[in-house]
Amino acid sequence: MNTQETLTSEKAIALEDAHGAHNYHPLPVVLNKGKGVHVWDVEGKRYYDFLSAYSAVNQGHCHPAIVGAMTKQAETLTLTSRAFHNDILGPYEKYATEYFDFDKLLPMNTGAEAVETAIKIARKWAYEKKGVQEKDAQIIVCKNNFHGRTTTIISFSNDEGARKNFGPYTPGFIKIEYNDVDALERALKENNNIAGFLVEPIQGEAGVFTPADDYMARAKALCNEHNVLFMADEIQTGIARTGALLAVCGKCSCEGHCERQSTYSRPDILILGKALSGGAYPVSAVLADDEVMNVIKPGQHGSTFGGNPVAGAVAIAALNVVKDEKLAQNARKLGAIFRKKINDYIGESTIVNLVRGRGLLNAIVINDSEDSSTAWDICVALKDNGLLAKPTHGNIIRFAPPLVIDEEQLNECVEIILKTLKTFEK
Ligand SMILES: *Cc1c(COP(=O)(O)O)cnc(C)c1O
Repeated sequence: MNTQETLTSEKAIALEDAHGAHNYHPLPVVLNKGKGVHVWDVEGKRYYDFLSAYSAVNQGHCHPAIVGAMTKQAETLTLTSRAFHNDILGPYEKYATEYFDFDKLLPMNTGAEAVETAIKIARKWAYEKKGVQEKDAQIIVCKNNFHGRTTTIISFSNDEGARKNFGPYTPGFIKIEYNDVDALERALKENNNIAGFLVEPIQGEAGVFTPADDYMARAKALCNEHNVLFMADEIQTGIARTGALLAVCGKCSCEGHCERQSTYSRPDILILGKALSGGAYPVSAVLADDEVMNVIKPGQHGSTFGGNPVAGAVAIAALNVVKDEKLAQNARKLGAIFRKKINDYIGESTIVNLVRGRGLLNAIVINDSEDSSTAWDICVALKDNGLLAKPTHGNIIRFAPPLVIDEEQLNECVEIILKTLKTFEK
């Protein structure tokens, strides 16, 4: 069967419905092509992609440099497992550790695996370096977090849908309010067994919830003071999305590559995924300095596919694109324009309450209850008008285009968004 030519949207959706597990609720659009900021559906209609696969496709769809590196490596050597060395992993690890300024990198595949890896490293560090009694190590996490879907990770989620009936849950996590430095300080003072503080610099899935500008720096300082590892989950916020190489870089003036300004809240453990491959391939990584990373010894952690040569080649190419095309700088500049234009509209709108975010990770909050269908209906209307976005948490719509978008395209997209929103004004 030639699926490319015979499948209508309707048929493709029916097939998924009949034969696939119903663990997602996608917008009714079936895509079969992507290039840069655009994707096309099977009927040939073109859309602006304002989700970018949850910020995996920062470098744009099917970037030729990334696809080129991937196909070249795929024709040469795809997988050795870590039972043997391969000639890409070392150069990739050197490149990425220099790029992000850490001693060591541990390669994995998906974001959730990288978060699991970070948790394991932090606990092991607590027992072997900090002197916490075995089985007592605790990790502080934030309310409304999203760190992935494994049993351990959903154990410290407070999203009922993600949690309910998946227990028994993994213990060892202390949940505090996000964006609350005092809550962090209290938790650190109350307990001497804290291994790490796991935090998203901006809570993407929670609706691009953006904390105070000094939250990361103050949290990091408190962790230092209490000998607790500051663990930044930059799977969604990292790699230029928020207008800096990392969101913990704060307001540095990097030209697409970070120059480590004074606001940099350097994590002890940095967790990356998504755009590390530009969306071409599942590539994730945990970065840390020797003192932390060296607690992991041969045989104690790993993954069959982690560190495979295709992943390494793809990640090098994807990180090169970020630097060469100054994507952080572009995200910062266009993000400011986007929020300004949306804010001008909010002044006269009854349907949109606010816009928030940093760089090109933004969201609008719809003036309706969380269980209303308004945000969903707006996204369906946006789709009809040629722009794809997805509601998160009921009444919030995230807008996160590929970072290769230019100003003219962004202006056109703002017009589509405003035109669509206006049809929902009461
Ligand atoms: C997407 C995401 C994850 C999980 O990544 P997967 O590749 O889906 O496992 C973890 N943390 C954050 C902040 C994310 O956005």
